Amino acid sequence: QADERESLFLINEFARDYFERMLHETQLGKSIGLSYFKERGFTQDTIKKFHLGYSPDVWDAFTQEAIQKGYKLELLEKTGLSIVKENKQFDRFKGRVMFPIHSMSGRTLGFGGRILRTDKKAAKYLNSPESPVYHKSQVLYGLHYAKQSMAKEDRCYLVEGYTDVIQMHQAGIENVVSSSGTALTEQQIRLILRLTKNITVLFDGDEAGMRAALRGIDLILAQGLNVKVCTFPEGEDPDSFARKHPTEDIKAFLNNKAQDFISFKASLLMKESANDPIQKAATIRDMVESIAKIPDRIQQEIYLQECSRIMDISENVLYSSLAQLTAGQS
Ligand code: ATP
Ligand code: MN
Ligand code: MN
Ligand code: MN
Repeated sequence: QADERESLFLINEFARDYFERMLHETQLGKSIGLSYFKERGFTQDTIKKFHLGYSPDVWDAFTQEAIQKGYKLELLEKTGLSIVKENKQFDRFKGRVMFPIHSMSGRTLGFGGRILRTDKKAAKYLNSPESPVYHKSQVLYGLHYAKQSMAKEDRCYLVEGYTDVIQMHQAGIENVVSSSGTALTEQQIRLILRLTKNITVLFDGDEAGMRAALRGIDLILAQGLNVKVCTFPEGEDPDSFARKHPTEDIKAFLNNKAQDFISFKASLLMKESANDPIQKAATIRDMVESIAKIPDRIQQEIYLQECSRIMDISENVLYSSLAQLTAGQS
């Protein structure tokens, strides 16, 4: 088993090199892949640092080369890089730009691949499937590059996508990781907790980002971490925002706009229907449910006080409602 895992790592590392070679050293790679990354504002240094690549738009270009190098088709299939169907083999990531996904220590676990034009029917991003070396619920994209800065800054910025991580790095903000297309998991939060207890959620300024942030908050609170939320202008994500603003402005934005989860939920309510008492009651219940997830009693108390102040409701009512919610727990 250990041998097989090592073989899968070696295949992924061969693939990472292959996709990089295709990007930097072939005519099509340069004119299609490299110019795509450059158009997104990635510098040559950034492209090299994150080992970005290009998978040629040929059915089985990668699989053929890997087999020629002596890698077994059965193992290639296990990494998900090759797909075998009716005795024909082809490349999963054909015609995509490639984002290798690294472990905390820098080994290549799998890949994300983006199509170049989103007018095609295909999914915008395709990821490696689960494999003995890639368990997506236990991986954070960018952790290998972010870990030092996360410890030093004692904070982790959590974003949605690959390009958000990369663009923030390029802007000089390196304590950034992404759950990349999967809903945040407990295991991912525990990876962060090894380095810092402070998370700021930076999700896209759209409906999906808002919902993902709300889900993430409760999970983070339940693990005993401190969570803040920073919402982006409608239609922006950290990538697009970081491209438009100088680093100092981005940092100022992150510092000034970050809210704790109580104010974040309150501001969501204000946007929707500030004067509707039913809506307000629902929001307060929602806040108390989040507070109930916090393991630390003192922190619970502090947030209850804040909730009371912001929502203009007595602490006593909040206490009894919290007590009801936690009654079943020990
Ligand atoms: P881009 O800026 O390249 O268009 P993005 O990172 O802003 O992409 P979003 O649409 O905001 O992409 O989605 C966030 C993340 O969710 C992506 O980075 C990717 O990891 C994942 N994702 C998006 N679309 C898909 C999809 N169709 N299939 C699988 N994962 C996806
Ligand atoms: Mn989005
Ligand atoms: Mn996005
Ligand atoms: Mn984007």
